[in-house]
Amino acid sequence: MLKFDRVKIQEENPEERKKSFIMEPMKGYSLDEATAEASRCIGCNICTQACPASLDIGAYINSTAVGDPGQTVRIVFENLPFPAIIGRVCTHNCEDICVMYDTGGPLAIRHLKRYAADQFNDYGKVLNIKKRGFINKKVAVVGAGPAGLSAAYYLALQGVRVTVFEALPVFGGFMRVGIPRYRLPFEVIEKEVGFIESMGVEIKLNTRIGVDIEFSKIMESYDAVFLGVGTHKPRMTGTPGSDAKNLMHATEFLRRISLGEKLPVGKNVVVIGGGFTANDAARSSLRLGATNISIMYRRREIDRPGYPSMNANEEMEESVDENVNYVWEVTPFEYVKEGDTIKQIKYWKNQMVQDTGGRAKPVPQKEKTFTMDVDFVVEATGQETDFSFLGDEYSRKLNLTPHGGIIVDQRGMTSIDGVFSGGDSTNMTHDLISAVRDGDTAVIGILDYLNVMDTVNEEYLPLLDRWKKFSPMVAKMAYADRVK
Ligand SMILES: Cc1cc2nc3c(=O)[nH]c(=O)nc-3n(C[C@H](O)[C@H](O)[C@H](O)COP(=O)(O)OP(=O)(O)OC[C@H]3O[C@@H](n4cnc5c(N)ncnc54)[C@H](O)[C@@H]3O)c2cc1C
Ligand code: SF4
Repeated sequence: MLKFDRVKIQEENPEERKKSFIMEPMKGYSLDEATAEASRCIGCNICTQACPASLDIGAYINSTAVGDPGQTVRIVFENLPFPAIIGRVCTHNCEDICVMYDTGGPLAIRHLKRYAADQFNDYGKVLNIKKRGFINKKVAVVGAGPAGLSAAYYLALQGVRVTVFEALPVFGGFMRVGIPRYRLPFEVIEKEVGFIESMGVEIKLNTRIGVDIEFSKIMESYDAVFLGVGTHKPRMTGTPGSDAKNLMHATEFLRRISLGEKLPVGKNVVVIGGGFTANDAARSSLRLGATNISIMYRRREIDRPGYPSMNANEEMEESVDENVNYVWEVTPFEYVKEGDTIKQIKYWKNQMVQDTGGRAKPVPQKEKTFTMDVDFVVEATGQETDFSFLGDEYSRKLNLTPHGGIIVDQRGMTSIDGVFSGGDSTNMTHDLISAVRDGDTAVIGILDYLNVMDTVNEEYLPLLDRWKKFSPMVAKMAYADRVK
């Protein structure tokens, strides 16, 4: 008999997993589960039209359904060199729009991709890429995050000599030093970035452009440059008492944990902010031994970043299962210190006030003050791009949006001739799949700029905007309609 219900993924016990940075919350499908789930797909490919990177989802689900995960990996690699990573942490807007939503649940597109990718330790054997010799072109990539590494991979397949410069001692950007290890194991990142290196991409770690090498030197030495520098400059709240030693921005907090530090957070941790980074900081605090963790957000649950989407719901469910406590509609206004240590947070309750037309605004109700005891405070209040690496001359030349994002044309080129950009520093969506899409776009732009399009091997060019009809925003709206 036909079975239409989505095959539930097995999860680790929250009480066990919250003690471990190694244990992934979700176990991954078995062969039988993957086959059963993939067999539900009707192949309409509506989902592909909402995927930022235009993956041929219907086709790769079909290859999993017929027991050919190698073909799934080959199809994913047409546009994305990170199937096991994206198979774990993609925001998966494609599932929000899946036509099977009301017929047993949307296809588990993300879990199916993970299943296929996890079957292979060495993608080289599956992909069987016939690498070209180097052509006489050199490209520098600044930043070894998903945007830079995607661009590097597809350029290298065309014989371009690519050097990636990375400030940190590890590659992966926020895949490695933002997303915690329990959601995205280091070995998975090493497998996929290792494959990119094996295709001839050189990655120079511990090399901060603007400090170790001047940006002007890069401009002189390469035929084109791709900036995938992300957003690594913290935005702090500036709440009185912020100079305490037990307060940290979430990106520093998560980076230091990822690089091996065991930060002493105590028992009571408060995370300020409402997005995915706040969840990751809260759940990492649990794994460092904290027992009482609150996320304070100034707006309502329905206003939190990323909502409405299945992904936002899943992230919150996982946090709630691990006993993270959410405190909605509050404004912290003082960190009360003893010496250089915050002991309490003082906060107001907010009231959401609807402005004419715009988004409801949180207005603090100041007549009553609340307090919460705390051992450690994490501010997950956003971050921006640090442009200091460019130096004065190139900073002046680089056009930015009013929000500080890099402006690029359709080819991904900035206002500086020969300098391309993508990822968090450039797009508004700030997720992995969009960073990869930007890398793909820039590959075509760079090859065109280098004037080598007539010699490219089309088989290895990323396929941009396959059957584009919907945007990820349409997928979100579809989901919002469904959960009303
Ligand atoms: C905590 C957290 C959790 C997240 N969770 C998810 C998730 O579950 N799903 C999802 O899709 N997205 C998630 N994201 C967002 C996602 O990680 C980013 O959208 C993505 O990594 C952006 O890619 P990027 O290549 O633009 O930049 P990044 O990944 O930020 O990489 C930029 C790299 O450039 C380097 N760099 C910067 N300046 C220089 C310089 N001057 N010289 C040399 N190197 C430099 C940086 O060190 C960094 O390694 C999360 C982000 C965070 C912070
Ligand atoms: S929208 Fe759903 S049913 Fe249609 S191809 Fe995509 S996963 Fe399959």
